[in-house]
Amino acid sequence: NTTADPGARTTGTGFYFDTVVTFTLYGADETLMTELQNACVRYEQLLSRTIPESDVGRINAAEGQTVTVDAETADILRRALEISDMTDHAFSVTIAPLTTLWDFSGGTERVPTEEERLAALPLVDDSRLKVEGNEVTLPAGMMIDLGGIAKGYIADELAKMCEGRCTGALLNFGGNVYVVGQKPDGSLFRVGVRDPKDTGSSLAVISMGQGTVVTSGVYERCFEKDGVFYHHILDPETGLPAETDLTSATIVGPRGADCDALSTALFVMGAEGAAQFWREHQDLGFEYVLVLEDGSIHITQGLESSFSLASGYQEREVTVIAP
Ligand code: ADP
Ligand code: MG
Repeated sequence: NTTADPGARTTGTGFYFDTVVTFTLYGADETLMTELQNACVRYEQLLSRTIPESDVGRINAAEGQTVTVDAETADILRRALEISDMTDHAFSVTIAPLTTLWDFSGGTERVPTEEERLAALPLVDDSRLKVEGNEVTLPAGMMIDLGGIAKGYIADELAKMCEGRCTGALLNFGGNVYVVGQKPDGSLFRVGVRDPKDTGSSLAVISMGQGTVVTSGVYERCFEKDGVFYHHILDPETGLPAETDLTSATIVGPRGADCDALSTALFVMGAEGAAQFWREHQDLGFEYVLVLEDGSIHITQGLESSFSLASGYQEREVTVIAP
């Protein structure tokens, strides 16, 4: 491995997982960027729901038959099921029969009929997804959607690839940012938390050592029709966009897969449910920033020293949640 100038910055952009992905590397060796991009291509081929030959495509078309998948796919599914259990299925990896009824990125503004929605609800049941070794079995009619966890898992794996190959890196997958190492001057990276009501600006900044910051918000992948606002985070109990008092949920922690799934789950739970979940799951080692519908902000105690409001947002009410 050639070690480049530690201050030299390289950036690369691509479109993977239906998301603009940007990698910023400091002092990287010559081949790291290409390897990261190749890994994105590989993960897309493995995990995309819209590629029939992918593991997810094959699981969803299997009609009850057992499918042999890549060891990584099996690992993601096992973690997804654990988080599904922990969150009382607010995060449900078998959400696909519901998500396919909606179209939050295609622009067709389709709202499913009540009949379609009620027919899909019984097909969302994570307890019926079986993962044994690399074998996956799902009852006919059911389908999985890794949209709420895959980018976090991929960020973890790409961050591992960066270890020892650069002095610092920011891996940005839209709402998921993974920080590796430090800036060339030795200072911490700063990750912005977007203002859900004005997505061009950050309302706060988090100083980050190694780890990830993942936001689920309803300002992307959403539409308004006949005066009703619809967004892409669904309540598995109703099949409708989750009714919540939050406009975004940001999770900070060491593990991308967990933080990604938790950002979706805590968004569904709302502010009170999120606080209770955090208190009961201190072992997961995560912190959060919630932006509430009324504009106020909740942060967990572990973030007190690394969180700061951005200029223009100094007046925002911030509540610190204690364990
Ligand atoms: P994004 O991928 O846009 O950053 P999230 O991480 O919040 O957003 O994940 C939302 C995606 O997860 C949806 O687009 C959908 O594919 C899937 N999803 C929606 N609702 C749920 C849910 N309750 N549990 C698990 N996955 C969900
Ligand atoms: Mg998520």
